[in-house]
Amino acid sequence: MEQKPTKSFIHAIIEDDLGTNKPGTAVHTRFPPEPNGYLHIGHAKSICLNFGLAREYSGKCNLRFDDTNPTKEEVEYVQSIQEDVRWLGFDWEDREFYASDYFEKLYEFAVFLIRKGRAYVDDLNADEIRQYRGTLTEAGRESPFRGRSVDENLDLFKRMREGEFPDGSRVLRAKIDMASPNLNLRDPVMYRVLRQTHHRTGDKWCIYPMYDFAHGQSDSIEGITHSICTMEFEDHRPLYDWFLDELEIYHPRQIEFARLNLSYTLMSKRKLLKLVEEGHVTGWDDPRMPTISGLRRRGYTPEAIRDFCDRIGVAKRDSMVDIALLEHCVREDLNRRAPRVMAVIRPLRVVIENYPEDQMEELEALNNPEDPQMGIRRVPFSRAIYIEREDFMEDPPKKFFRLAPGREVRLRYAYFVRCTGVIKDEKTGEVIELRCTYDPATRGGDSPDGRKVKATLHWVSAPHALKAKVRLYEHLFVRPDPSESKEGEDFASLLNPASLEVLDPCYLEPSLEKANQGDRYQFERLGYFCVDSKDSSPEKPVFNRTVTLKDAWAKIQKG
Ligand code: ATP
Ligand code: MG
Repeated sequence: MEQKPTKSFIHAIIEDDLGTNKPGTAVHTRFPPEPNGYLHIGHAKSICLNFGLAREYSGKCNLRFDDTNPTKEEVEYVQSIQEDVRWLGFDWEDREFYASDYFEKLYEFAVFLIRKGRAYVDDLNADEIRQYRGTLTEAGRESPFRGRSVDENLDLFKRMREGEFPDGSRVLRAKIDMASPNLNLRDPVMYRVLRQTHHRTGDKWCIYPMYDFAHGQSDSIEGITHSICTMEFEDHRPLYDWFLDELEIYHPRQIEFARLNLSYTLMSKRKLLKLVEEGHVTGWDDPRMPTISGLRRRGYTPEAIRDFCDRIGVAKRDSMVDIALLEHCVREDLNRRAPRVMAVIRPLRVVIENYPEDQMEELEALNNPEDPQMGIRRVPFSRAIYIEREDFMEDPPKKFFRLAPGREVRLRYAYFVRCTGVIKDEKTGEVIELRCTYDPATRGGDSPDGRKVKATLHWVSAPHALKAKVRLYEHLFVRPDPSESKEGEDFASLLNPASLEVLDPCYLEPSLEKANQGDRYQFERLGYFCVDSKDSSPEKPVFNRTVTLKDAWAKIQKG
C-alpha cells in the first residue's frame, strides 16, 4: 500500500532548495538513533519522514547510529533498531554508519579548532563549569584557563587522549561567547575524559565527543543535505552552524519539527527503560509498550503505522495525538486483510437438546465479507457449543436483545436457537450451562418463513474447539498525559492496573489450528487478534488482542 504523503513545511524547504539554491542536488537525509533503547512510535514518525522524503525526491536516507555516549549503549539496541526500521519497510542499503566511525576524524576537527584559537582545554570541573555558565538573565564568566596558548592546548588535548588525566578532570571547550544570550554558545564542552568501553571502539578511546560536536560533523561527512531533528534542537542550531562554519567544511541544513506525543503513553526512552527494568512490563516488546517491537507483537502492521505517521503530518507546534487515531489506522488496515473467525473468550456452554447426539455438520462461513476473494471455510457445528457469557442474561433489561430464557437468536452461519433452560451452580447460583432447541429449517442462518430475530451470536462447537489463552489490553497509563506527573509523583504509580487481562481457556474454531506466530485475525464481534510471537505454541496457542472493533476515533470525528 503506497500512501500519498502530505506536503509539509519541510517539503516546501526542500523544494525551494532543489529549485533555486542547489539545482541537481539530490536529497540526502538520515535517521540518527542513539542505541540506548528500543525504537518507539515517535521514532517511527522520524523514520517515515526521513526515509519518506528521500523516496519522494529520489534521494537517499542513511541509518546512522549516534553512538557517542558509551555508558548507555548496547549491541542489543543496535540490532533491534535495524530490525524495526526494516520491518517498517525502509532500506538504508549499504549506508549504515556509526558516529563512532568518525572518532578519529572528529579528533582532527577538534585539533583544527584548537589551532584556529577556537577551542581550549579547561581544568574546571563540571560543577565549576556550571557555576561559570551564568543564567538566562545573567552573562557567564570566562574560565581562568580560557587564555591558554594554542601550543599548550594542543599538548593538553593530546595528553587527554593518551589517558594522562583522570575522568572528569579536564574538558575541551569551544571558545565562543560567555555572554551569549543562547546558553549553548557559552563555550560548550566538545570532549570529556571518560574511561568506558565502547560497543564498537572498545577501549581505544578515553575521550569522547559530546553530541553537539559529533552530530553536525557526521552530517557533513556523509553529505547530508537536510538534517531533520526535533524541536529541542532549535536552540542548538546556532552551535551546529558555528562548528561547521569554523571547521570550513560542507554545511548541511538543520530543520526542526515537533516530536510526536501520544495520549495514555510515554515516548521517553529513559522512562520506557524504567518500566522494563522495574518489571512493570515484560520487556521492551511487551504488547502494551509504545515501542515498534511492542506494536508489532500486539499485531500492528507496518502499513498501519506508516498510514498513522502520514495522517499526523509534520509541524513545528507541539501537540498530543489521540491514541484512538493510531488504533483507527490499524483497524482500517486489518479490516481489509484479516480473515474472520469465530472465537469465544468468556465461554458459556450451550446444549442443543433436539440436535442429534452423534451428529456433526460443517457450515460455510465467509472469510472476509469485505473481500469475497478471500473465499469461504467450513466450521463444525454440533450439539454442544460455547457462546459468549455476556450474550446471555437471565433477566434482561429492556435494551438487551441477545439470548434470554424463551428468546430466539441466530447463531452466525448456523441456525436459529431458542433458550429453553438455564442450569445453575447449586451453591453459587451462577449460570453454568444453557439448554436450547434449534430450528433445522433455518440452516445457514435464514428463516424460510421470514421470522425475525434481533441478535446474531458467534459460537464455537465444544468438542471441536481449539483451546487457547487470550490476552486483552487497555491503555498502559490511566492519565492522558502521564509525562505530566506532579512533583514527587512517581510516573509508575500512574500505570493502569487493568492494562492486561488474561483469559484462559478460550475456545476457538478449529481452523485456527494452522495459525502461525504473527498471524492476524478478526475474532467476530471481539476485535482483531494476533498470534503471540514469543509465547504461543501449537500445544498452547496464545492470542493478543490488537484492538477492539469499536472505533473511538470515528466517534470523535463525528463529534
Ligand atoms: P528519547 O527522548 O525517547 O530518548 P531521543 O530523541 O533521545 O528520544 P534518539 O535515538 O536520539 O532518541 O532519536 C532518533 C531520532 O528520532 C532523532 O532525530 C529524534 O529527534 C527522533 N525522535 C525521537 N523521539 C521522537 C518523537 N517522539 N517524535 C518524533 N521524532 C522523534
Ligand atoms: Mg537523542
